[in-house]
Amino acid sequence: MREVIFEQTSVTNFTVQEFGNGNGPIVAVTAAVHGDEQTAIHAAMLLMKELEQQTINGRVKVIPVCNPASFRNRTRVSPFDGIDMNRIFPGNAEGSPTMQLAHALWLETRDAEYLIDLHCIGAGGTTYTLGLYKEYPEIRELAEALSLPIVIQSSGVRGQLFVESCQAGQKALIIELPAGQPGGIIDIPAAEECCRAIIRSLHHLGMVDASPSGSSVSFYDEITTLTAPHPGLFIPKATAGESCVEGDLLGTFEGNSVIAPFSGVITTVSPPRYCFAGESLAGIAPLEKSQ
Ligand SMILES: [Zn+2]
Repeated sequence: MREVIFEQTSVTNFTVQEFGNGNGPIVAVTAAVHGDEQTAIHAAMLLMKELEQQTINGRVKVIPVCNPASFRNRTRVSPFDGIDMNRIFPGNAEGSPTMQLAHALWLETRDAEYLIDLHCIGAGGTTYTLGLYKEYPEIRELAEALSLPIVIQSSGVRGQLFVESCQAGQKALIIELPAGQPGGIIDIPAAEECCRAIIRSLHHLGMVDASPSGSSVSFYDEITTLTAPHPGLFIPKATAGESCVEGDLLGTFEGNSVIAPFSGVITTVSPPRYCFAGESLAGIAPLEKSQ
């Protein structure tokens, strides 16, 4: 038998890069659980370059492409079985290819005290930290250490790597980054800032000397998504990352105003396009209600 290899890229393995000396916390950084989320991949690549320059107390494990088949396919889900991997953790060693992959990733990240999972929100989105900060004070602290300006409470849908990791006693959250969809596009400045944010968190944990400056942090409640009530043309009039007050114009849908239903921060605004019923026009998160 001869094996004919026509492309170097393997789609049934993933690479783990490790940095540090092991005398401190273990931090896992994962990207491309959804393979088309390339701003996340690029942030992980930049982070690995930066970590090569640093003396690290502890260990940082970076998995820059968690889902190689969906990366190669430029799709959110794996072409093997169409399963959204970030709904099925901890996976299943006896299951479909994506179930097995999730299980392998789960095992690979069990030794980490902290887990930062990098994702993308798509074109028209902005960077934010997403976590269960209300349930876990340590997540609030980690989000503050990242010093990205927007922190949003997650709805905590089960099967996500960070949610299941929190359930398992780890300190885990997501950084959502702009772009990714469509087609795996990269927002370069967002990837660079994400890399700096992770370095800031490592500094907070006493793992690196470098301490790039960050932003003050605001905490928000869960996102409300405004969706198209029927097919029609959406034209954006606002930009993700901006604050809004109730009544602000976010865009027009079939010529009618789409307004902010409450004050908060805009997390996404659809690019101009003909939308179908149920598709997202904009996302808004209200400031955290005072305790
Ligand atoms: Zn994702």
